[in-house]
Amino acid sequence: MTQNSRPSTLQSFQGDLVYPNDPSYPSAIARWASNAERQAALVSFPKTTSDISLVLDYALHQSKPPLPIAVKCGGHSASGASSSEGGVVIDLSRYFSEVRVDPEAKLAYVGGGAIWATVDEKTAEYGLATVAGVVNHTGVGGLTLGGGFGYLTGEHGLVIDNLVQATITLQTGQTLTLSSKSDESPDLFWGIRGAGSNFGVVSEFVFRLNPQRKDVYAGVMVFPIDRVEEVCQVANAWWDNGPSEKERLFINLVWNEDMSEVVLQVAPFYNGSEADGRQVFNAFLELNPTQDLTTSLPYIKLNAALNDQFPHGRPYIPTGFQTHRAQANPESIRNAAKLYKRHQEQDSKLARPIKLNVSVIHEYTPWAKVSSIPDSEGGPFPRNRVNNGLLMATWAENEKEINLKAREMVNEIRNAFLDGKTNQKSEGPKTIEKDFRQSPASRLEGLYGVENYQRLKTLKKTYDPKNVFCSWLPIEID
Ligand SMILES: Cc1cc2nc3c(=O)[nH]c(=O)nc-3n(C[C@H](O)[C@H](O)[C@H](O)COP(=O)(O)OP(=O)(O)OC[C@H]3O[C@@H](n4cnc5c(N)ncnc54)[C@H](O)[C@@H]3O)c2cc1C
Repeated sequence: MTQNSRPSTLQSFQGDLVYPNDPSYPSAIARWASNAERQAALVSFPKTTSDISLVLDYALHQSKPPLPIAVKCGGHSASGASSSEGGVVIDLSRYFSEVRVDPEAKLAYVGGGAIWATVDEKTAEYGLATVAGVVNHTGVGGLTLGGGFGYLTGEHGLVIDNLVQATITLQTGQTLTLSSKSDESPDLFWGIRGAGSNFGVVSEFVFRLNPQRKDVYAGVMVFPIDRVEEVCQVANAWWDNGPSEKERLFINLVWNEDMSEVVLQVAPFYNGSEADGRQVFNAFLELNPTQDLTTSLPYIKLNAALNDQFPHGRPYIPTGFQTHRAQANPESIRNAAKLYKRHQEQDSKLARPIKLNVSVIHEYTPWAKVSSIPDSEGGPFPRNRVNNGLLMATWAENEKEINLKAREMVNEIRNAFLDGKTNQKSEGPKTIEKDFRQSPASRLEGLYGVENYQRLKTLKKTYDPKNVFCSWLPIEID
């Protein structure tokens, strides 16, 4: 559709509108996960907040029947939360992607469609950083509105703990500037910090910045899977000893193509010199890893180090589990490794191999800073967990039958991992992920807590009574 044939409501729209007959339509609906692509009726790239209001008005009031809305930033939702089948996408990534730093005030003004790479680059120019995601092509929008954590979380808390202001356009078209200090809807500023995709389109985030040294200690040590007991023992002792806020650790189960074998990667992080980092993680080095690829590297390169492992345009299934387990469990890891290896062997014999690639990631993030902030101040993000697990699966082709087969395999590996005998320290459900199989209401009550969920429902009724923003963990309207 050309500019002249735009619907009358969108005549003054300053950004770009892409319809299915436009040559750029395939790239406009492309997502990081190819299985999250949907056939939108219109993809809009607004330039101003007035443009956002115009598109909302067009979709909700001028279209009969009203069209569903999806908001897109980095496009990393694998469930398709930033895509729309037959509806209107508000894609902020083209014109709301800039980052401006005020080094004096130590603040970054970040467009609602920016990616973390831009934030890292711009802030590093001044020796500053904010808490960011560990894969820098992810979007600031989704990651922030879901809470967000990264390498600097031990020191500076969640991404939302560093959010000082946000500009949001509501379904009415009204634009508000939110902060804990402003009189303009302080309760909504609370709500967006953990349930943020429920209320409107955030066109700008303002983050607090902290001084950040240039180089940090990170990388991976590789161990054969038969050393999982020793690795977990050292990791769990390190965790029980109370790591400092400058430390973080991942234990990853991955496939090593050269060895045709599942291996363990231990990925330490120390926000300091290599010499100090090696001392802090010496117990792992003393285990004599098959490879020691840990080193000193610029912090901004660290956030790019995993990018190639998670490229754009492949099918993905990410499954997060907030384990409530204080420690990694060797039996769980061994169970998952056995099954993964068996699948790889069977797959290589298939006429059309699925080429499944799975990472099972156990994260140890010092959580004291995060849990020191009460929900009443910090937002509804669930702060009560111990550490976090993630299973990230990808495969070669986005095709219905192959996707089903891949999903089956992933479920089996996930269940093998979760059903390994646990050495849970705390009471409570084995995983919140299991709670997700309950009804949406009890699932969200389980996630946010009963009191916080009630507060969110009140906010939803006030700011999004027609449930326009319902693509990701939608709060119920009674
Ligand atoms: C490879 C990879 C690495 C990851 N690493 C981390 C990590 O280190 N830490 C972490 O906390 N999480 C991490 N995540 C999870 C990540 O935070 C979520 O997938 C997040 O939703 C991605 O944000 P996005 O903007 O790229 O996604 P999108 O698909 O664009 O958006 C996701 C959701 O947020 C909404 N949304 C996005 N922007 C806005 C906005 N400006 N206004 C209103 N709504 C908006 C969308 O409508 C959608 O519902 C990772 C995910 C992947 C795939």
